[in-house]
Amino acid sequence: MVVRDAAVIGAGPAGLYAAQRLAAAGLGVIVLDAQERIGENAVCSGVIGEEAFVRFGLPTRPVLNRISCLQAISPAGRILEYRSATPLARVVDKAEFNRELADRARASGAELCFGRFVDSLERQKDGVLLQFRSRSCPVGRVRARVAVIASGVNGYLNRALGLVQPREFLRAIQADISLGKDGISNPTEVYVGRSVAPGAFGWKIPLGHGRVRVGLMSVEEPRPYFRALLQRVAPGLDGAQAPVRWKAIGQMPVGKCVAERVVVIGEAAAHVKTSTGGGIYFGLLSAEMASEVVLRAFHKGDFSVHPLGEFERFWRAAFTLELRTGYLARKLAARLSDSLVERAFERAKTIDLLCRLNGKLNFDWHHKAILASVRGLFGLGACA
Ligand SMILES: Cc1cc2nc3c(=O)[nH]c(=O)nc-3n(C[C@H](O)[C@H](O)[C@H](O)COP(=O)(O)OP(=O)(O)OC[C@H]3O[C@@H](n4cnc5c(N)ncnc54)[C@H](O)[C@@H]3O)c2cc1C
Repeated sequence: MVVRDAAVIGAGPAGLYAAQRLAAAGLGVIVLDAQERIGENAVCSGVIGEEAFVRFGLPTRPVLNRISCLQAISPAGRILEYRSATPLARVVDKAEFNRELADRARASGAELCFGRFVDSLERQKDGVLLQFRSRSCPVGRVRARVAVIASGVNGYLNRALGLVQPREFLRAIQADISLGKDGISNPTEVYVGRSVAPGAFGWKIPLGHGRVRVGLMSVEEPRPYFRALLQRVAPGLDGAQAPVRWKAIGQMPVGKCVAERVVVIGEAAAHVKTSTGGGIYFGLLSAEMASEVVLRAFHKGDFSVHPLGEFERFWRAAFTLELRTGYLARKLAARLSDSLVERAFERAKTIDLLCRLNGKLNFDWHHKAILASVRGLFGLGACA
């Protein structure tokens, strides 16, 4: 059996980007994904900040729209608006986005295999042995010197190896609907409040051509809240018109992302923003850091936890403050009654919070804005 240098499990953004980097550096890389076709299970709103596009030179063909105005909307309809002179983020067709990343990985020399569900990953003396099943082959095997687990929220392989798991899951649901109006200039709306989306928020994202993407995350069963949100943003819409898709989002990594010959990245490692549930940018960053560490391990010929463990240091330095602050902020917000949320909106207007946040607002990195908002809203000292 051919022994690959690296086997990547999962062809989402994190796995595909890691595969591209490793293959471009000359490693023999195979990617295994359970989907029959790339992007077919992509349940995602596809909002990606401008920073990620610039940093990773992301494909622009899948871009459906740009976001430069955001409105936070309280349960009673109070509005806080943030408008930027330049676009903050782009909305992509996630399936198309994944296909483009797959093309790049292939062009770098990675072999992509779909319809392969990896059942087990066994660490052996000289490498790893993956067992998978597919339509044509009930038990297939792949050997590699290193495995990169990028299997998203499905934490089955990590769990079996005693590796990182999310502390909790948010339940997310969304649908693309046609309003027959709504254009490119409409703001992206974020709906907050315990009665609207317990523990998280809902959203409406204009896609252009009269279509919007409506979604909601919650710590509770999201469907009743989603139906209510649909009625609010598209009154009279027959819910059955909109094909609704849902998925969990992992939050807050607990445990190690590295074992001998194994690295866990992306949403599999809960490298997902705890404030918004966005996982594409952090997944790409996670893949970039892990690839660097894996390449160093190949250079040294040492695949023990010592060199691979550098990945833990890298991602913790990059993400810990963000993950903790976002998580605590969401927990705090979840405890507020709707009437307290209304008072917070009022106070935000009174103290001109958005103006005070000038210089602290960043689409991808939230801890400075969160801390300044908490200080301003709860009167904990100056926030200028
Ligand atoms: C409703 C919703 C909206 C979202 N909106 C946004 C957003 O606007 N912006 C944003 O940044 N993030 C968003 N996210 C989160 C984002 O989609 C994910 O965090 C991101 O796709 C994670 O990327 P990944 O590569 O780590 O994993 P994934 O994209 O989940 O890819 C994992 C891949 O692994 C495969 N796989 C899993 N198990 C196995 C196995 N055992 N064998 C073989 N293959 C396997 C799966 O088929 C899948 O293709 C949203 C999520 C949801 C649910």
